[in-house]
Amino acid sequence: MTPHQPGFSGGMLDRADHLRADEAAIAALRQDPRARVLMLEGFDPLLTPQGGLAWCGVDAVEPDASLILLGLLQGCAHFVVLHEQPNEAPLFRSPRVMGVLSVLGPDDMAIYGAARSLLDWHGRHRFCGRCGGATQVHKAGWGRRCSVCATEHFPRVDPVVIMVAEHAGRALVGRQASWPPGRYSALAGFLEPGETMEEAVARELFEEAGVRATRVRYVTSQPWPFPAQLMLACVAQVQSDVLCIATNELEDAIWVSRDEVRAALAGDKNARFLAPPVYAVAHSLLKHWTTA
Ligand SMILES: [Zn+2]
Repeated sequence: MTPHQPGFSGGMLDRADHLRADEAAIAALRQDPRARVLMLEGFDPLLTPQGGLAWCGVDAVEPDASLILLGLLQGCAHFVVLHEQPNEAPLFRSPRVMGVLSVLGPDDMAIYGAARSLLDWHGRHRFCGRCGGATQVHKAGWGRRCSVCATEHFPRVDPVVIMVAEHAGRALVGRQASWPPGRYSALAGFLEPGETMEEAVARELFEEAGVRATRVRYVTSQPWPFPAQLMLACVAQVQSDVLCIATNELEDAIWVSRDEVRAALAGDKNARFLAPPVYAVAHSLLKHWTTA
């Protein structure tokens, strides 16, 4: 466990799995006057003047609104409204939500991340992947069931490896052309079927930067809600510092020293590069590397 707690992790809600299939218990929670509903605008959170997530009572939403049970806190149910919108546009990270993430506290960020991933999943799983029939909300929003073949579908999480290659006391960071000027971060890629985490790290490093990993160490993980990844952060020793950059994936990649990484993480104006944002696991990973 890294001492640098990544963003979107450490949420305090009890997910109360044992209640999800108990419709009477869910109905009672919904009628409890202490119950709270997360306030969103589209998929972006609304904030209180203090910069926390804004909540309203169940009486403020439509009586027949579909509510997902996010979890319990001191026995008080926390819900989010699920809107079944047939033609919803694909979701992207809006500049607004990126701004919100810089002020949300860790617990609120974790609650919001889980809610957002769930809402996104519902929007993309309105039909059964097995028979094409319409699906309906199931288990207090933690699943969907096909109305034709009764197959149950559950929210998916996609594993992604994110890694720093290490050689002779320096770390490899790269940048994509779409990123803010000067921003460099850890390399990353989706796991493929049939791979271990370590194999995926080695494959991605070779594909993107042409370096061969000899040893891969797991550091920490982070749920990432755009839309629903699990980031697996690793450090990989590599054989050589000679790079062969895949320009379809990366605009550039550079080797940086611990002092250069420390300066970037500290936001030093003279730093060699702009660090990833503090809520991204790449930030936690680079911080870990400076102390390893
Ligand atoms: Zn079906």
